[in-house]
Amino acid sequence: MNIQARVGQQPLEKLQRSRILIVDDQQPMLESLQALLRINGYIADMALGGAAALEMLQQTSYSLVLLDLQMPEVDGHAVHRYISSKNMNLEVIVVSGESSFMAVKEALRRGAYDFVRKPYQVEELLTTINNALEHHRQVRQLRLTEASLKESERMHRFIVNNSPDFIYMLDGQGRFTYVNDRVKELLGYKPGELMHRHFSSLIHPHNADEIHNYFSEQRAGERATRNSEIRLLVNRESDQVECLENRELIVELNAIGMYEADEKGGRNFIGTLGCARDITARKQSEAQISYHAYHDLLTSLPNRVLFDDRVTQAFAHARRYEQEFALLFLDLDRFKLINDSLGHAMGDRVLQQVSERIQGCLRAEDTLCRFGGDEFSLLLPNIESKENVAAVAEKILRAVRQPFKIDRHELYLSLSIGIARYPQAGETKEALLQGADMAMYHVKASGKDGYCFYSDAMTTTTSNFLSVERDMYLALEKDEFELFFQPKVDPGSHIIIGMEALLRWRHPERGLIYPDDFIAIAEESKLIVPLGDWVLRQACQEVLRWRQQGLPAIKVSVNISSVQLEQAGFADKFIGILQECGIPGSTFEIELAEQSLIKGRKDVVKTLRVLSDYGISIAIDDFGRGYSSLSHLQNFPINTLKVDRSFVREIESVADASCIVNAIALMAKGLKLHMVAEGVENLLQLDYLRKLGFNEVQGHLYGEALPASEAFIMLRTRPQTGPHFILPN
Ligand code: C2E
Ligand code: MG
Ligand code: MG
Repeated sequence: MNIQARVGQQPLEKLQRSRILIVDDQQPMLESLQALLRINGYIADMALGGAAALEMLQQTSYSLVLLDLQMPEVDGHAVHRYISSKNMNLEVIVVSGESSFMAVKEALRRGAYDFVRKPYQVEELLTTINNALEHHRQVRQLRLTEASLKESERMHRFIVNNSPDFIYMLDGQGRFTYVNDRVKELLGYKPGELMHRHFSSLIHPHNADEIHNYFSEQRAGERATRNSEIRLLVNRESDQVECLENRELIVELNAIGMYEADEKGGRNFIGTLGCARDITARKQSEAQISYHAYHDLLTSLPNRVLFDDRVTQAFAHARRYEQEFALLFLDLDRFKLINDSLGHAMGDRVLQQVSERIQGCLRAEDTLCRFGGDEFSLLLPNIESKENVAAVAEKILRAVRQPFKIDRHELYLSLSIGIARYPQAGETKEALLQGADMAMYHVKASGKDGYCFYSDAMTTTTSNFLSVERDMYLALEKDEFELFFQPKVDPGSHIIIGMEALLRWRHPERGLIYPDDFIAIAEESKLIVPLGDWVLRQACQEVLRWRQQGLPAIKVSVNISSVQLEQAGFADKFIGILQECGIPGSTFEIELAEQSLIKGRKDVVKTLRVLSDYGISIAIDDFGRGYSSLSHLQNFPINTLKVDRSFVREIESVADASCIVNAIALMAKGLKLHMVAEGVENLLQLDYLRKLGFNEVQGHLYGEALPASEAFIMLRTRPQTGPHFILPN
């Protein structure tokens, strides 16, 4: 920069404001110089000799020193050395009579701005002073600018390096020329490690095809790459990266081309500048949201939406490759019972375990889905044969039949499975779903715990089944229900001591329908309440008929569903009906399935107590099938335990002491409960039970349930004394 040339243009005031120190050992010299400077508008101090100069330099800050070299004691060289040693930011003009070449050279070498010989030319001196001050000002300005540049550089570096994003620059060939510090945490590289490496070494193979477009030359202005989602590879050797699980980082990439003008007015591509933002966390939460949209939260299985999609895919695949697939509907049998008796929390855990068991029977490509409640659906793509599917269904049934141990409960469950195959059962999704549904109901209707393939013949019977609920309402109005009676006998004397009322539905088209096929539906629809009332009234009518005919009074048992029992005012209604008919409570016994007592609701205990106080005896039906303990049942006013027929069926030899009935009998005796066995079909069983001390038995050995009219005849024609049955030996 040519300082001299610009002196004249500097505003004088600016330079004049600077403070000048005049150092000389001659007082007159000092005074004349000071006067000259003041006249020219400068502020000037005087130092008489080197020692005084040193003192003043320490106290005041000067822009310029006019320094005489030759002085006694402390000379100009010493002052100059002092200035240099203190690195003082000021200019020195040597004003000296000494003109030896060596002295001047020494002063200039030490950094003096200029040399003015005494006696000085006023003009020359003032010009030199002016120039020196301008130089001083410019140096100071330069230093300030440098410092502020340094600061601003430091700030930008700070901003770039602390940016949450990975900021980079590539050269024209796609090699890194700059990366910010962030790359350490995000990708596990030190910035230096990436320098001059090609960007492609960071790109996940998944994005390998498209990535070159993102960095191509055309990426300028509107066409810059904006927020393109790509995956970057994380440094495998690094231990700095937090989310190393999958060794990849999902980022939103921005890239813009950098260009340089060429001589012909065109532009040359010189590289790419951009940043990449880590969106892994966002992707994870998006994934979670979409997971929730497509999965059942309880079991983590796909939900209906996802299942639908998989079925659509299965169709496309099967059509293209001429394959078969199967759609299965699975419904837990009697699940409502578990929910009702053990509570929903337990029901939920059962569903979780059931879904795990089913899943354990499947291939990776099969899709199990929870349709809600206790319904599951299953897609088996690419199946070879009907036998294949049957094998899977059997495997699932076997797995679910194994007892479930949840807390202290041991639960026995089963499934009903309906199967529809593509293309045999239909060519559309709707047809297959409907087919599987019908087949499943077919299994339900024929005893549950099994599987069944859809067939065309099913359409009519199953749709009948589906309309059972509606039909039952009508049946009640049209009086299609009937009460049958099965004798309960003293196993020692073979005398009838009671009758169990068992419900039948005489369907005009389908014939006699047994309770297993409609009670559950009646319970679900709450139709069991009016139906139960009807049963009790009917039983009362029969008792009155027997009484009118002078038959000896016997006890009548009616089955009560938990739905009825939990109805408010049940006990009052029950007793009310007996009172209407004038029948004492002691004539009746109610049979409650064990499961209906498990929850031990306070109001149920109260209801039972009211009934019991009225003389009605209370029996636990199907005992042993539920999950209760006798100690729990002690909370209820119970008179009788009726052992489930499945345990009676187990009795195979007289000597067998391992039968569960033994244990039950022992406990029941301890609790002084009346013991009844149902389902007795042979003499061996009868003998066994009698020896165990059972008070009553019931079963085909003595007779099946009979229509009321036949039961009436049986009672009327039985001998007045002695056994009512003669059994073969
Ligand atoms: P449950 O109360 O345990 O009735 C005994 C069932 O065993 C009856 O079947 C009876 O016919 C059958 N059974 C009797 N002896 C033998 C035998 O020696 N061998 C075999 N294998 N079975 C025998 P049913 O009549 O089909 O009734 C089934 C269930 O339906 C009953 O079981 C009861 O829980 C329910 N139920 C029947 N009538 C009513 C009713 O009026 N109301 C309610 N809520 N439930 C009822
Ligand atoms: Mg019963
Ligand atoms: Mg029973």
